[in-house]
Amino acid sequence: MTAHGATTKRRHSRQVRIGGVAVGGGAPIVVQSMTNTDTADARATVEQVYALAQAGSELVRITVNSPEAAAQVASIREQLDARGCTVPLVGDFHFNGHKLLTQFPACAQALAKFRINPGNVGKGAKRDEQFATMIECAIRYDKPVRIGVNWGSLDQALLAKLMDENAARAEPFDAEGVIHEAVVRSALDSARQAEAWGLPADRIVISCKMSQVQDLVTVYRDLARRCDYALHLGLTEAGMGSKGIVASAAALALLLQEGIGDTIRVSLTPEPGGDRAREVQVAQEILQTMGLRSFAPMVSACPGCGRTTSTYFQQLAGRIEAFLRSQMPLWRERYPGVEQMRVAVMGCVVNGPGESKHADIGISLPGTNEVPVAPVYVDGEKTVTLKGERIAEEFQQLVEDYVRANFGPGSARRRPRAAQGKEIPVKAVS
Ligand code: SF4
Repeated sequence: MTAHGATTKRRHSRQVRIGGVAVGGGAPIVVQSMTNTDTADARATVEQVYALAQAGSELVRITVNSPEAAAQVASIREQLDARGCTVPLVGDFHFNGHKLLTQFPACAQALAKFRINPGNVGKGAKRDEQFATMIECAIRYDKPVRIGVNWGSLDQALLAKLMDENAARAEPFDAEGVIHEAVVRSALDSARQAEAWGLPADRIVISCKMSQVQDLVTVYRDLARRCDYALHLGLTEAGMGSKGIVASAAALALLLQEGIGDTIRVSLTPEPGGDRAREVQVAQEILQTMGLRSFAPMVSACPGCGRTTSTYFQQLAGRIEAFLRSQMPLWRERYPGVEQMRVAVMGCVVNGPGESKHADIGISLPGTNEVPVAPVYVDGEKTVTLKGERIAEEFQQLVEDYVRANFGPGSARRRPRAAQGKEIPVKAVS
């Protein structure tokens, strides 16, 4: 049951193993991301993959678009392994994947999965031959593939064929319906073709990325109904900033709530100089706020209003959130279960004590005209009242002490109150 008592049923899918990571078949929904470095620049790519993995990305996709890029993949894998970073690498192939996988066996071997876009594997008679070569490589190197359709690079021959068939119908579908069908058919026909050539169904992940929320929802509902392949979910070209985050969250939440989706990626366009790992954080927050997985302690903070003219609580909430996230690479290993902790930072006495009591640890700061003290609540009980200039530092220390006492080696390791009753049973539905 979720925190609100609803049961989230997951769609039944075949489980695919990508390196050491299980996708589908009831496994936790996997967060993945993609680099934007030139893969031929091994040093920059290693740094970015490492940063994405540190942020919590469980699979990382890299572009393999040229001989220079393919030549670096094995070295990138070795350098990551040397740093203790075992995150599986997925190779993203378009147009020349058949050549690169054949000419660079070390690249094929170092990758944990090949992403193949059926709209970009070749035209006419060459299409089947080149696609077959990539599937043969997947079989030879014992790798799974993602058949990744993107509506921006849809197989135009298939679309034209479906348009003609539709025009001949007594009651034709609208053009949008034909495009949706073409996207789904491109993925399913390609996957079944791969199976016919000998790639087992449990080595195939499917995606059909669209750039509009309603299109994505329609296509994935149809896809989920028509196959049991593991599904990679993501809104393509989601955009920058809040627009990209909101669009991705809206699309993914609708589908995840219906149990659709085994792995997700949030395709954000970073601000110039922005942090690529932001897409990992957003994907994690979508899953965590929906109660589907936990990745890092969550901070509840009130929005503030006329009862508090100070921005102090906003700064404190931001500071605590940044602190918690920065600690996670270490805490994940050292304090199992800490990702389920809830922290509250509230602006005044109206909702402050109540929300703080519901968190594992919370602080209620003083609003305008309130006594300038900040009571702290631990496991629902007021334990201490902070005042003076160092409230932020002292509260951060209390949070650290709470983590060590409750999740550290030798602690009772009790489950945090906030997590009680939050497990989501995985029920197979067809
Ligand atoms: S807790 Fe207080 S400051 Fe925060 S939004 Fe509510 S009334 Fe306003």
